[in-house]
Amino acid sequence: MTQPLVVFDNVVKHFGSYQAVERMNLEIYKGEFVAIMGSSGCGKTTTLRMLAGLDKPSEGEIRLNGERINDLRSWERDTPLVWQNLALFPFLNVLENVEFGLRMRGMAKAERRKKALEWLERLGLEEFATRDISLLSGGQRQRVALARSLVTEPPILLLDEPLSALDAHLSVRMQGVLTGLQKDLGITFVYVTHSQSEAFAMADRVVIMSRGRVEQIGSPQAVFLEPHNRFVAEFVGGKNILSGTVVGFDDGGLVRIDSPHGGFLARLPEGKTVVPAERVTVCISAEHIELTAQPVRRNRLSCTVVGEEFIGSMVNLYLETKDGLELQVQKLQADYQLLGVHCGQQIFAEWDGAHALILRGD
Ligand code: ATP
Repeated sequence: MTQPLVVFDNVVKHFGSYQAVERMNLEIYKGEFVAIMGSSGCGKTTTLRMLAGLDKPSEGEIRLNGERINDLRSWERDTPLVWQNLALFPFLNVLENVEFGLRMRGMAKAERRKKALEWLERLGLEEFATRDISLLSGGQRQRVALARSLVTEPPILLLDEPLSALDAHLSVRMQGVLTGLQKDLGITFVYVTHSQSEAFAMADRVVIMSRGRVEQIGSPQAVFLEPHNRFVAEFVGGKNILSGTVVGFDDGGLVRIDSPHGGFLARLPEGKTVVPAERVTVCISAEHIELTAQPVRRNRLSCTVVGEEFIGSMVNLYLETKDGLELQVQKLQADYQLLGVHCGQQIFAEWDGAHALILRGD
């Protein structure tokens, strides 16, 4: 197996008595696009800053290409960081900004100019070479910041919410620029964001953090389809969560669960086992719930429709059971029209047992 480019080996970061990162273990491979995501204050930026050499781990080891880098300063390691505010030098023009890193490394003027121009061309910026930074648009500035970081041809680029200051349209265009560049160059990107859509659109793997802890690492698909615990299920959204007690197994290997809302079936994720009387948490995706006046499945709940939300081609429906359990159901606009449901209507929500997933970590 290939050696990881980056290893976080039991890394802990304290600020005084506050633990910002709790015992992190993470391996990042060459050419991967890894997004670290989570809500504000969960430790994403601290993780990136430790990799960049701007914060030092309190415990554990960070390795780059197999070598411990805990004690290397930011300029002694090849891990440039692109910030949200980009930190371009306003007193230098576009070309001089891009050249800067090469100048610091002592590269001769003609050579560094040639290299910087190559990068400007690569990022479609050649016509702006002599322009002041202040006269560029947000998207152009983003590309200058990328060129400035990539001109030294580092093995890895760290990005901290680089698109959060852009409007939605430009942000989506820049996502295309970033992923294209990352794949073309075969470089590793570690990207911090609080935006699930950005992370899911670009990353090969996502790391979901909460309160300093890694909750799950996996492909966007795996994290969305098989969240490990309640936190991840709620974080990725569109999930219904039910709790219950295991009573046994049906012939097809599904788990029979008893809950205050009635009995239902659910499937186990690979590798997890349960025993009768064990408490479990189950998650059902909003798109896997069917609505009907005449239920045919054993997994069903009698509900009242309490809200509708139109989101373009989809409709979110909000339901409530008599005992106060809230459910979210997602339908295609066309299916919603066929259903003809309305607020206040009594209806059955039902689902296949195979679509109810017992969470691994709860
Ligand atoms: P955001 O999305 O808001 O930037 P984040 O997930 O990137 O959040 P971090 O910036 O890593 O979070 O911060 C994690 C926690 O550590 C926060 O509670 C923050 O207040 C705290 N923290 C970060 N840097 C320091 C510092 N230098 N001194 C003290 N506490 C800090």
